[in-house]
Amino acid sequence: MSTPPAIRIDNLVKRYAAPKGAKGEEAQGKLALNGVSFDVPQGSIFGLLGPNGAGKSTLINILAGLVNKTSGSAEIWGFDIDSQRRNASRAIGIVPQEIVFDPFFTPYEVLENQGGFYGIPKKDRRSDELLAAVRLADKRNAYARTLSGGMKRRLLVAKAMVHSPPILVLDEPTAGVDVELRRQLWELVTEMNREGVTVVLTTHYLEEAEELCDRIAIINHGELIANKPTRELIEMAREKIVRVETEADISATPAHETFTKVERLDDRALEVTYDKDKLSAGQVLAILQEQGLTIEDVTTREADLEDVFVQLTGTGA
Ligand code: ADP
Ligand code: MG
Repeated sequence: MSTPPAIRIDNLVKRYAAPKGAKGEEAQGKLALNGVSFDVPQGSIFGLLGPNGAGKSTLINILAGLVNKTSGSAEIWGFDIDSQRRNASRAIGIVPQEIVFDPFFTPYEVLENQGGFYGIPKKDRRSDELLAAVRLADKRNAYARTLSGGMKRRLLVAKAMVHSPPILVLDEPTAGVDVELRRQLWELVTEMNREGVTVVLTTHYLEEAEELCDRIAIINHGELIANKPTRELIEMAREKIVRVETEADISATPAHETFTKVERLDDRALEVTYDKDKLSAGQVLAILQEQGLTIEDVTTREADLEDVFVQLTGTGA
């Protein structure tokens, strides 16, 4: 028997209600999710990647029970989010995109209150253990309003884990945070995953998804456009780019049937895009020289997730 997925999303649709008095296309309301389906495998760090406005938070908020879906279904740890909402909620911890706190509670109190909310008996609560895990033990009794942005984020991670859910979801955990804090959050996430927690994180940073996630789904305009192991996804970026600078002005833009694209940057520079499976950079240069160019300088660019994204969506991220 194969392991059931941690999360199963099936043909999820969300259309937000139109603003009052909206006309034309706007009157139908914003279609934020247009039939999205995918599974999150147990034990993975799963990246939900997409540009701003793609529908990531809408999807997470439906799982959290904060937004009502229009149609489709979702299961969390095998529990249907409609018919088994309580069990579904208990199986997931969510760190929302927006930081909201009562500023007059201390980190310890925030976690104790959350434990109370879930009906966890005092002796079974893990508040101090969680504070240590997110490196906030020394802020145990400080007011939440005195914490830095990064500390608040970490406290939210601890808060999401109070009821020991098998799944942790982070919605844009590193948007607008500095490099140092991003590192800390990445470590924390990796650590929790090592301990068996399935992690879902949304991000619009390609680099982040590439570094952290073992599987990546990409959504754009409410539609799933890719869902693959990270390595396979990166391999999809077959295109490579060679940029050359020439000794003399380029009189005619070179062309060849094996080139995907040739772009003149200025009088003495151009970029050739080619399929790395069909051609090598050396062959590209040879073709250019045959066509009479004297090359002075060459740079090549490796495919990364950004290239995949551009290829799949036809836009920059
Ligand atoms: P992401 O998290 O990927 O940036 P969102 O899920 O927040 O995307 O938004 C998806 C789309 O739905 C956007 O066009 C956004 O403007 C719209 N949207 C989000 N929340 C609401 C809402 N409460 N009412 C109407 N439209 C919304
Ligand atoms: Mg969002």
